Amino acid sequence: MNILITGATGYIGSHTLIALCEAGFTPILLDNFCNSKRVILPRLEAQTKQSLKFYEGDILDVQLLKRIFTEQKIDAVIHFAALKAVGESTQKPLEYYQNNVAGCLNLLTIMKTHHVKRFIFSSSATVYGDPASVPIQEHFPRASTSPYGRGKLIIEEILEDLIKAESDWSITLLRYFNPIGAHESGQFGEDPQGIPNNLTPYITQVAIGNLEKVQVFGNDYPTPDGTGIRDYIHVMDLAEGHIAALKICASKAGLHIYNLGTGRGYSVLEVITAFSNAVNQADSTKSGSTKAIPYEIKPRRAGDIAECWADPTRAQKDLNWSAQRNLNQMAQDAWRWQTQNPKGYE
Ligand code: NAD
Ligand code: UDP
Repeated sequence: MNILITGATGYIGSHTLIALCEAGFTPILLDNFCNSKRVILPRLEAQTKQSLKFYEGDILDVQLLKRIFTEQKIDAVIHFAALKAVGESTQKPLEYYQNNVAGCLNLLTIMKTHHVKRFIFSSSATVYGDPASVPIQEHFPRASTSPYGRGKLIIEEILEDLIKAESDWSITLLRYFNPIGAHESGQFGEDPQGIPNNLTPYITQVAIGNLEKVQVFGNDYPTPDGTGIRDYIHVMDLAEGHIAALKICASKAGLHIYNLGTGRGYSVLEVITAFSNAVNQADSTKSGSTKAIPYEIKPRRAGDIAECWADPTRAQKDLNWSAQRNLNQMAQDAWRWQTQNPKGYE
């Protein structure tokens, strides 16, 4: 099968592309590099041992989309391309809706024209808002707290309307929890621009000495140690979830919705400890001494919730998929990527 991957050079897209090639799918890549770097392409070709079909451009560019669908025989689309900074989305709502919602509509419209009706969408646990209880199941009510999250929710609703009108589509909504970690080769990982917004890239920046201390946003949540709890999932487990979804769902018409998480939550302090251990383990041969990653407690971050973790049972049952890698592996792989690439892909 030929799979068009939008946002293919981004964090999750690049890891999924590697897993897709390993599983024997043929990828066609599209990205405008607004949040990724061109230099990843030769690395991807070396890793996948193939020459990759790559289109540089924007999902807002309808002419380009027409060209891709005319030039290539596409069997299914995995749609990663989006802007993803929650805080920035509150400052630039129009840009976010334009890029994420209008971009997705362009893609769906061109797919319909070319009778390509298999679609996998990168959704997010953010569509559950502040859940009444955890673990979160797929039928829980949805809510949004930012233009970014509202965009995901709007697209989910658009896709629900589409499947009601045209039941021959196969649409899969994958709701990611907190993807972290890196490819075990140390060649691919998360490469945020500027100061990271997310916890684990911030931690590795502190550990490598680029930032002074981790800022822990709140220790007065109703959780065992007072810090926020999330369901961190290794990015390669997430990537493999897409392969399972492609294999199982793409042949079944209808709307399929899955949580992709581990089913286990960790607090901010537990994550900092896991990363300290990973750093010490990697350094032990060099120095023999151990050190903890420094942090300080700060006020809560606006919009954050106390805890969020998945019930992944549905994906286990239907897709025969479950996350295999634990928090220590996530930390070790993230640290390997950080140390081998102190400036990211530059
Ligand atoms: P990323 O920013 O690393 O990757 C997105 C890629 O899309 C980038 O390479 C960017 O250049 C590209 N892109 C953005 N807008 C584009 C456009 N208009 N045209 C063409 N290319 C465009 O982000 P990621 O972490 O890999 O996230 C992938 C998807 O998963 C996104 O839809 C994101 O909302 C979703 N998601 C991510 C997380 C997370 O924590 N990383 C969690 C839940 C959902
Ligand atoms: N967090 C933190 N310091 C940071 C970034 C995040 O304490 O510099 C906390 C945040 O409050 C949340 C968890 O870490 O409890 C995960 O945050 P992240 O931004 O990585 O993902 P989110 O769950 O918000 O999408």
